[in-house]
Amino acid sequence: LFYLVSPLVMLFMSIAQFQQGRAALDRIGELAGIEQEELDPDAAPVATRGHAIAFDRVSFSYPGSEEPVLDTVSFTVPDKGLTAIVGPSGAGKTTVFQLIERFYGPDSGTVLLGGTDTATMPLEQIRGQIGYVEQDHSLMRGTIRENLTYAAPDASEKDIADALRMAHLGEVIRALPEGLETELGERGAGLSGGQKQRLAIARTLLQRPHIVLLDEATANLDSEAEDALRDTITAISGTCAVIAIAHRISTITQADQIIVLDRGGVRATGTHTELTTTDDLYQRLSRHQEVAA
Ligand code: ADP
Ligand code: MG
Repeated sequence: LFYLVSPLVMLFMSIAQFQQGRAALDRIGELAGIEQEELDPDAAPVATRGHAIAFDRVSFSYPGSEEPVLDTVSFTVPDKGLTAIVGPSGAGKTTVFQLIERFYGPDSGTVLLGGTDTATMPLEQIRGQIGYVEQDHSLMRGTIRENLTYAAPDASEKDIADALRMAHLGEVIRALPEGLETELGERGAGLSGGQKQRLAIARTLLQRPHIVLLDEATANLDSEAEDALRDTITAISGTCAVIAIAHRISTITQADQIIVLDRGGVRATGTHTELTTTDDLYQRLSRHQEVAA
């Protein structure tokens, strides 16, 4: 009998082990990719002060990968002004944004918001102060008003007018026969590339963020649109901490600080003038940045 039962027992044991393994994997997924964590609107906010954002020796690899994507990254971002992140494709720029939003937690080191470790803060508190302007801006079919207010349904007419003015869209939209009620097509069709980008920025401003993360679109803009975008970024960085993954020379030259990321490490930090004389990678990037992916 023993010899008959044994394989069965072994089978059950391995199923149990498999299930334990699955549970452990799920748990690791939960720990590493915190996105499954539920937002809890009642969680008490944690007191904060100091820099808008700081990375303190942050290292990170994506769950299930051994490859370190960020390696001992440190930088600080003041409460106001423009910080540009530049670096070759795959350097880790978008990953920095993912960690700021705590879509993932670092393997080691600390991501701080207002001087407080984000690992100790309710997600609601983190996401509530950050506006994320994605590269593909995710505009949808619907009116301009709907596109503006879907994440800020309580915005007043004045809030909308203020956000549009900051995004240099007030006159553009007033000139449309149907104004805010103008219907846009799929992905914002009906507006120019520069206008779509600025509409995505205006939408983010309506959420009253302290920190704006801008993954700059790479679309070619004519010089008028380029100027409007530059002036928009200047306007927001007067009231918020703006971090831009920058593709435009006009954005990086006006930055208060530029972080050069390369293969997961901070290679250099400085202003355009400083980096132009000190860093050869920066020189190459800033020469080609307008056309980089
Ligand atoms: P950048 O924005 O500077 O182009 P990313 O932060 O997107 O760089 O990517 C940095 C590295 O991390 C790349 O090698 C990329 O392949 C890898 N990576 C990005 N996202 C993921 C993911 N979700 N899972 C695994 N690896 C990823
Ligand atoms: Mg990227």
